[in-house]
Amino acid sequence: MAVTLRSLWTGALVAGAVLLVLAVERIASQNALDEGLVRAETTLRQTVNGLDGHLRRFEALPALLARDDRVRDALAAPDDAAGIAAMNSWLEETNALIEASDLYLIDLSGTTIAASNHKREDSFIGQNFSYRPYFTEARDGRSGHFFALGTTSGVRGYYFASSVRDAQGQIVGVLALKIGADEIEAAWRARDYRILVTDPEGIVFMSTDAVWLYRGLLPLTPERLARTEVSRRYADAKLSALQVGLSASGKVQLMRLADGNGASHEYIATEHVMPQAGWTVRVLLDTAPLRTQARLAVLAFGLLLLVALLLAWTVFQRRARLAERLAIQAAAQADLERQVAERTADLTRANDDLHRMQADLVQAGKLAALGRISAALSHEINQPLAAARNYADSAGLLIDRADLPRAKENIGQIVALIDRMAAIARHLRNVARKPNEPLKTVDLHTVITDALTVARNRLDSAGATVDLDIAPDLPLVRGGPVRLQQVIVNVLSNAADAVEGSADRRITLAARAVGGEVQITVRDRGPGVAPAIANRIFDPFFTTKQVGSGLGLGLSISYNIMKDFAGDLRVSNHPDGGAIFTIALTPASPEAMAAE
Ligand code: ADP
Repeated sequence: MAVTLRSLWTGALVAGAVLLVLAVERIASQNALDEGLVRAETTLRQTVNGLDGHLRRFEALPALLARDDRVRDALAAPDDAAGIAAMNSWLEETNALIEASDLYLIDLSGTTIAASNHKREDSFIGQNFSYRPYFTEARDGRSGHFFALGTTSGVRGYYFASSVRDAQGQIVGVLALKIGADEIEAAWRARDYRILVTDPEGIVFMSTDAVWLYRGLLPLTPERLARTEVSRRYADAKLSALQVGLSASGKVQLMRLADGNGASHEYIATEHVMPQAGWTVRVLLDTAPLRTQARLAVLAFGLLLLVALLLAWTVFQRRARLAERLAIQAAAQADLERQVAERTADLTRANDDLHRMQADLVQAGKLAALGRISAALSHEINQPLAAARNYADSAGLLIDRADLPRAKENIGQIVALIDRMAAIARHLRNVARKPNEPLKTVDLHTVITDALTVARNRLDSAGATVDLDIAPDLPLVRGGPVRLQQVIVNVLSNAADAVEGSADRRITLAARAVGGEVQITVRDRGPGVAPAIANRIFDPFFTTKQVGSGLGLGLSISYNIMKDFAGDLRVSNHPDGGAIFTIALTPASPEAMAAE
């Protein structure tokens, strides 16, 4: 649909452009012709004026010269050789003076008796011109003029003649003057124009182009030929018709004529009738350069139009491409957005899955922890319960046997077991309960000494020895002495566990101020803490010990206590083996010390 519309538009545009070019071509060529017509008319005026002036210059001369007595005398005595010789000389001089072609004297019979060209072989002397209209006109008392091809000279010329009268006013002869057509034509040659002068019969007798001479612009009818024959105007010249094509463009008359080479040319034709001479002067202007000029203008216009159309086409194409690109971009954008939406949905789903998995894991972790607690507790409680039951059974038997001292002893064991279970319960309560011991300034010497006393049994049973390395100027720290002691006991107990059964059972307890902290380090020579579990040993219920040996709560409780003191509990391994636990504390501030 769009393609059809576009091709329709293109077709209309091309048709419009072609019509426009055609219209411009018409206007341009008509303009060129009109302009040519103006130029041709100007030239015609100049040519006619020139011709007219030329003829006028000679028109009055025969009558003027005819009045001379010598002329009259020569006619009166045609046989006086001396007189005729003198007349010949006078005619020759006068002819040269007035720049005419020939000047000659004719008697009433039409015979030339004296002439300016008397010296020439083809002199007019003796020639009879009675058939020439100029002679008959002058002989009849009128001023004669005629254009013709000289019968003797074969030279074209214009003839003026005047009657010569004697003293009584009787016409006694004719004085004739010929001017050559060549001089007139010579003035035309240099022009771009073709000039034709035709006689009343339409025969060309003067022209810029010799090929057109003696040829008829009008059809050569028998009457015309007969009239021409009478006056012998063109002597023996062969007359023929010209192939003339006439047409018009606007008010411009066009004439098609063949030149000397037979090539046909189109001319703008202008004409002017000179009634006195009986001539029609035509100025022809070749239209070829004008039409070329017009065509060039049209070509330039066409090219401009083409460039404009191409430019418009390019702009149109570019805009279309831009629109296309924008559409593609928009589609790509939409696609991208759709993909993003899909991915987001995928991610949301994955996230939900992850959350579910996390929740499952947490649940699983809780169950695992619960399992560990149950195992530890059931051992810690079942074992003393079973033992208590044994003691109770034995005590019953001993009472039956009236062995009261031993029965009492067994009951004592049962009490001890109950105490132990009570201690475990207390221990668990400590884990759950938030301590309410207030923080105060603590002297580490005291706390360390107390802790060593409490841990002494465990250390001894493990066969561990403790080296002390306590800085003498140890600053006071901030904390709770009971809980801090608990932390140190825990760490020392673990160290005892670690070295039990090892070759080197030394434990080193050091205390000093390092940087902004006061550190108590407990180093043992046990297996150390594997990096894989280093950050899990502080988790509650994490233990690597056998069921019954540890609840996995010691380090967790200790870690939380240290955080309560704004301190820290860290673990690392010594390069020579064994673990180092660092209990980091904050030195007590002077204000706090002053306040206590
Ligand atoms: P329990 O002693 O009941 O296992 P703790 O929280 O005190 O619980 O210790 C957790 C775990 O940390 C122990 O099971 C042990 O694997 C590890 N641990 C603690 N102290 C040491 C130490 N000095 N050397 C090596 N491992 C230790």
